[in-house]
Amino acid sequence: MQLKRLVVLGSTGTIGQNTLKVVARHPGRFKIVGLTAFHNTALLLRQIRVFRPAYVAVSRHQMQTIRQNCFLKNIKILDAETELERLASLPQVDLVVIGITGSGALRPFLAALRQGKIVAPANKEALVMAGDILMRAARRYKARIIPIDSEQSAIFQCLQGRRRSDLKKVYLTASGGPLAKVPLSRFSRLKLDQVLKHPRWKMGPKITVDSATLMNKGFEIIEAQRLFNLKLEDIQVVIHPEAVIHSMVSFKDGSILAQMGITDMRLPIQYALSYPECWDAQMPDLDFFSVRNLSFGRPDERKFPCLGLARAAARQGKTYPCVLEAADEMAVEAFLQGRISFNRIHAVVDRVLQSHRAPGHRLGIKDIEAAAGWAKEQARRMLGTVTPRSRLNR
Ligand code: MG
Repeated sequence: MQLKRLVVLGSTGTIGQNTLKVVARHPGRFKIVGLTAFHNTALLLRQIRVFRPAYVAVSRHQMQTIRQNCFLKNIKILDAETELERLASLPQVDLVVIGITGSGALRPFLAALRQGKIVAPANKEALVMAGDILMRAARRYKARIIPIDSEQSAIFQCLQGRRRSDLKKVYLTASGGPLAKVPLSRFSRLKLDQVLKHPRWKMGPKITVDSATLMNKGFEIIEAQRLFNLKLEDIQVVIHPEAVIHSMVSFKDGSILAQMGITDMRLPIQYALSYPECWDAQMPDLDFFSVRNLSFGRPDERKFPCLGLARAAARQGKTYPCVLEAADEMAVEAFLQGRISFNRIHAVVDRVLQSHRAPGHRLGIKDIEAAAGWAKEQARRMLGTVTPRSRLNR
């Protein structure tokens, strides 16, 4: 097998660390070309020592520390704020893992596709904001997208060897998040640590809050719609607290395939890295005798209005999904900083969506970024923290 040459965007985050664990488990199969990190300089330095990348991209305040402490004297240090696109499109790279959250993933994602690379996104924001543009680029440049997000990976896996035209419906499973059993009446007084306690997956704070509001599942509806070219009404969210089934697809003849396994991000990551091969993950199988029961329920949309917001934005299309995502980023940040209560997150997003008007022409990446900037500014206004224009336009 040929050595796969990787760039890992966000190597010190949850996805990045797990990606490097998979790489370390399969010596001789990968070469790490580039790593990027925004905050955790100490961990990045350890990763550099182990994986010896030719490039790293870091924030400006980390550059000095990296330069002084890095034992690799010929390593190229790039600016993570402006040079991720360059890193993602280097000719010596085969596969780009996108482990960074937020809209910053959009341009490097597109740049990698335009070079015909394999992109393995854990990030869902880029696909939500600019799914049409990314999918168009993937087709045009014959690039491949192999999702790492567990639900999308499950759907991708279930579709292997099947004719796309035989697919009927997709069932996106959701654990229900940390608030599944908390009554709506308590939502306005929720403490941050109650929201940040996800029952099944260990993830960063933004996505954990999005899992609590079910906005994360809303994003996944849009993500699945884009990735697999589905009609909105053919995507059904199913609450499945055991999180054993990572998603399901049904076919014309009524047969349903489910992808199951333990909840460990290394599995969908390894699937994307090894595809189309299947390697020993050196992990235990799911123990059916300790799971015993699988249960399913309908999502409570009154309790979790973000699901409905996401579906509405998906239906409207154009820049609406992008506005949904950008407004949510601001609202979640405000919640994490203790500036708004949990049940105001959806209200902020809803109001920004209501006041949005999409442009009439076919969208380019600049329209998407303009809509995101607009939505963030609107959300900031509502949250009472207006940022000067000069900073927004950076
Ligand atoms: Mg997911």
